[in-house]
Amino acid sequence: MYVRDADADGPTVMVVGGMHGDEANGYTAAGKIKDWSIDAGKLVVLPEANKNAIRSTNRIYNDGTDLNRQFPTGEEPTTSLAREIWDVVVMEDIDFLFDLHSSYGIYNSGDGGVGQGIFSTQAGGATSYRKELVSYLNANYISNSTYDYSGATSSDGSSPMLKHKVGAISTQEPSFTRRPAKTTDRSPSRSEKRPPQYRSSSNGSASSPIRWRMTET
Ligand SMILES: [Zn+2]
Repeated sequence: MYVRDADADGPTVMVVGGMHGDEANGYTAAGKIKDWSIDAGKLVVLPEANKNAIRSTNRIYNDGTDLNRQFPTGEEPTTSLAREIWDVVVMEDIDFLFDLHSSYGIYNSGDGGVGQGIFSTQAGGATSYRKELVSYLNANYISNSTYDYSGATSSDGSSPMLKHKVGAISTQEPSFTRRPAKTTDRSPSRSEKRPPQYRSSSNGSASSPIRWRMTET
């Protein structure tokens, strides 16, 4: 874990990458963000949350657990690694969480992927912050509107993901999951190898790609 404190007061922002070991964009970006200098506040970066899964390039490690399903709201996290991560969230008293993942496809294109989606919780001003972030990214980084960032407010505490748990705690920190497309040129194609589609075990309508898009991170 990397912690950078600025002289000036400001919010504490936590960035997590590598919750899933086969989502290289997330942990690669987090590995760069840990070296950022900041003007104010505090930056807490956990670039490789699930090192063993990253080493084996698997979504889950061989203990059989999906790390991003071990954070039930209102209960203790369900694995020791998840508890250690949650301890950091509580100890650092974070104001914002960015949980960086990867996906194939184009969000809302009908191809079944979430692509360049940014998903906020319902906490605090998270939804409006997300919309501002989407506008900023599209104006400054995306030249072809086909690949514009998009997203939704999707975290309501009903799923045991880290962002849901953060979004649900009493201080109501906004949290986001950013999911850049897996291809580096932001032009993912249907011929790209599709990763397995993991689904929430409690999701009775798992065959619906829309439902899956909203639950999968
Ligand atoms: Zn993921």
